[in-house]
Amino acid sequence: MRYIHHINVNTFRCLHRIEAGQKDDWVKPSIVILAYTSAVQRSGDRDMQMMIGDQFTESVSGKRTRIENPSDGTPAGEVPSGGAEDVRLAMEAASEAFVRWSEVPNSHRGITLFRSAELIRREADRLALILTTEQGKPLREAKDEVLGAAAVFEYYAGSASLITAGYSERLPRYGYGVVQRKPLGVCAAIIPWNMPVLIAAWKIGAALVTGNTLVLKPSIQAPMAVLALGEAMQRSGLPPGVLNIVTGNGADAGDPLIRHDAVKKISFTGSIETGRAIAGATAGTMKRLTLELGGNDPMIICSDVDPVAAADAALALRLYNCGQICTSPKRMIVMDEIHDAFISRLQQTIPEVVIGDGCDPASRIGPLNNEAGKMGVEDAILRLEDEGARILRGKLSAGLSHKGFFCPPALATGCAADSKVLSEEIFGPLIPVIRAGDLDEGIEIANSTRFGLGASIWTQQINTAERAAEELEAGIVWVNQHMKLPPEVPFGGVKGSGFGRENGLSFIDAYTWEKTILISR
Ligand code: NAD
Repeated sequence: MRYIHHINVNTFRCLHRIEAGQKDDWVKPSIVILAYTSAVQRSGDRDMQMMIGDQFTESVSGKRTRIENPSDGTPAGEVPSGGAEDVRLAMEAASEAFVRWSEVPNSHRGITLFRSAELIRREADRLALILTTEQGKPLREAKDEVLGAAAVFEYYAGSASLITAGYSERLPRYGYGVVQRKPLGVCAAIIPWNMPVLIAAWKIGAALVTGNTLVLKPSIQAPMAVLALGEAMQRSGLPPGVLNIVTGNGADAGDPLIRHDAVKKISFTGSIETGRAIAGATAGTMKRLTLELGGNDPMIICSDVDPVAAADAALALRLYNCGQICTSPKRMIVMDEIHDAFISRLQQTIPEVVIGDGCDPASRIGPLNNEAGKMGVEDAILRLEDEGARILRGKLSAGLSHKGFFCPPALATGCAADSKVLSEEIFGPLIPVIRAGDLDEGIEIANSTRFGLGASIWTQQINTAERAAEELEAGIVWVNQHMKLPPEVPFGGVKGSGFGRENGLSFIDAYTWEKTILISR
């Protein structure tokens, strides 16, 4: 199969060079790419290649990494193991493409993203299947994520006309001023494995619509759906080199990328530890940096809400993506009056949760993505027990592969407000409940963490909601909901959860710079 793949890529390269002589073809879909990808698609081939310039390519070293299905350890596919030399080639391609892409009108860049969104919607089932196979999440969640990525591109496409600058007509004694808004150049994006397609779309949409080009490095634990996304974007008309995807691990591919001299901005999403390392490695370089890091979101549940509905909401939110979401509610802070009814509902519902292969429609949750993650959650549960919490575990279904990273959900009650275990981010289906006497205590517990990504308040009282929204230390506060991230609003953390914002209109300042020209009269 690899042989057929190469023949197609080479055919594509030759024909593309001929086409490249015609100016307009640079921003039009290539029939050749269509032919090439449909051949790959029909074969069901998951033997994927990196996307650098106009090539789908192996790494310079020729090494490859096998991606395993977290449900049973079977091969999900393979990707090239990229390194510094691949990053150098991708940066060259992105720099070359920047010359033309930065001159394309905003509206045309928007149209290109809109076409990508259309194709992604059409191919959502195919992309979702790739995502489930490598990441583990249930297929319906994978499809939600893929459709979410399409919505992100549509948002950025629609925002293209808002990327404007300014004009000051009359400045007595100075003349008049024109403010131009310019793209930064080549940007770098580094993303985690938990929501790879959606997070890639946040970074791709913002960087591209503002006229930048991008080198993106997905996590080696879930790179395939992102490669498929990039390939679909090229097929829908994105010119070669505007988006480049280098696969590889953090040390071999991520580190050279963030250190490359030509990178003007780094947008990183991942753990606090890696975020710190990147901030340290780039300090003094004048590269712009956005850090979207971990979270330890509190969900404060007041005594005026229905405890059964609140428990059902808490369970549904925490089990989404098997608890592996930065903004998953990771600490349930429940008021005294409804505490017992809240946990009694969870004691009833947790044993009913069906856990299994993400491709099985009966599975409410899939496996965790990787073994280290599973060990981390199991260890946290044991340590919580040592701290005095009581644990209730869900059940594993019969017939699951012993090679799958399955982790039955766990309810932890009687958790201490100052629990050491709960001061860290737990990335899995653990629902810890902390009792609080009143709103003041609830907010104090909620804020007693180094994280500040998201937080929610559940109440029917507008005054309570407003006070909590004011006092909770988080980049986003939800009222009677949690974890919703429409692209129309800015998203990002405070405190240890990072800095910088994605989405909303914040992307305009994040991905452009303003040049002021002052003209005397
Ligand atoms: P991670 O920090 O281990 O890895 C993230 C990415 O960084 C990967 O692509 C990895 O290869 C790369 N990387 C690792 N070392 C690097 C280095 N030295 N230089 C450059 N790149 C390097 O995180 P993860 O385990 O993939 O993801 C889980 C974490 O991501 C959790 O903490 C979660 O909360 C966080 N997260 C945050 C958000 C957000 O928007 N705030 C969203 C999703 C996930």
